[in-house]
Amino acid sequence: MTKKVHIPVQLIIEHGAIPNLPQTPVFDWLKGKKVLMVSGSGQTRKVTGRVETVISGHAATVQVLACQSNSLDTINELERHVLEDPPEMMIGIGGGKALDVSKVVGTRSNVPVILFPTAISSDAICSPVAVIKMLNKSTSIGVKMPQAVIIDLDILSSCPHRLMSAGIGDLLSNKTALFDWNLAHQAGKEEMNTFANLMANNAVESFMNTLNQDELDRSRLMKVASESLIMSGIAMSIAGSSRPCSGSEHLVSHAMDYHCGAKALHGEQVAIGLLFSQYLQGQRERVEYLAPYYEKLGLPTHYEDLGYTREEMHRAIRMAPTMRNRYTIFNEMALSDEEIDRILDIVYPDEAKNRYRLTGSSVG
Ligand SMILES: [Zn+2]
Repeated sequence: MTKKVHIPVQLIIEHGAIPNLPQTPVFDWLKGKKVLMVSGSGQTRKVTGRVETVISGHAATVQVLACQSNSLDTINELERHVLEDPPEMMIGIGGGKALDVSKVVGTRSNVPVILFPTAISSDAICSPVAVIKMLNKSTSIGVKMPQAVIIDLDILSSCPHRLMSAGIGDLLSNKTALFDWNLAHQAGKEEMNTFANLMANNAVESFMNTLNQDELDRSRLMKVASESLIMSGIAMSIAGSSRPCSGSEHLVSHAMDYHCGAKALHGEQVAIGLLFSQYLQGQRERVEYLAPYYEKLGLPTHYEDLGYTREEMHRAIRMAPTMRNRYTIFNEMALSDEEIDRILDIVYPDEAKNRYRLTGSSVG
């Protein structure tokens, strides 16, 4: 028995990807088409303008709509617009929200979507999952994969360090997520897709191998991080769920969003949750092992650096298992309040504070 897997037809990650667009098959797709561009705010508008300049005169029409949020209202409004004047192709440009909104509207209105991520702050740059805001709470929903993903490394190089840290946090979390998936499989709770497992693991391993090379330039790091995050998205597409890239560490991040005010970026919170999950998973040595990577990459090592108090972090851990029906390490142990406190002291020692500087702005 074989399985049909959806992956993007075109994947372009290079310097000058936007000016070089006319040399790609993606440009041919746009010929004579009605194109709708959904643009993030802030600096992203400039990038949108550049893409618009490249394709206008080649596409039949190009319309640009700004997307400020990923709320259900924004999605409904955009969908109404699409139904009234249907485009033949949608282009999402931005760091996170514009990509999610494009994926959702493209899926609901059956219009193919091309994504131009301007930052790599999560694995949503190429995944069958989109995060939307409903009643002020973030919810993940299943969407179609984009038809193409185009990353211009010249654009990424000016992306704030904080966004890239978040993306790398989301990538490293494949490790704990895969551990949890194996646990769920062993407990007879979930099917295992070995191929998706392998791909999600290779994505993070290839990134870590690059980090271990002596000479590490930012451009190469960005390229490998982009590729690895895209591979993670494809692993999710193969698995048919976010399982290969989302385990107990994501439950902690979801609890921070739902119960503690959602004060930081998804990938930053996941990086913090990952340290706790690894401890629970009995990979204490792996926590030590990852520490140099956190240091090298400038990842957050203490929840206070993301603006969370001790009480909030305790609450996030306590509520994490209730966030969704997903079997993880949390199901294999009932943590008392005293135990949570004890582990918080070990995993987030005082020395881990103040290493992470919150630079840059929110995801556009
Ligand atoms: Zn994630």
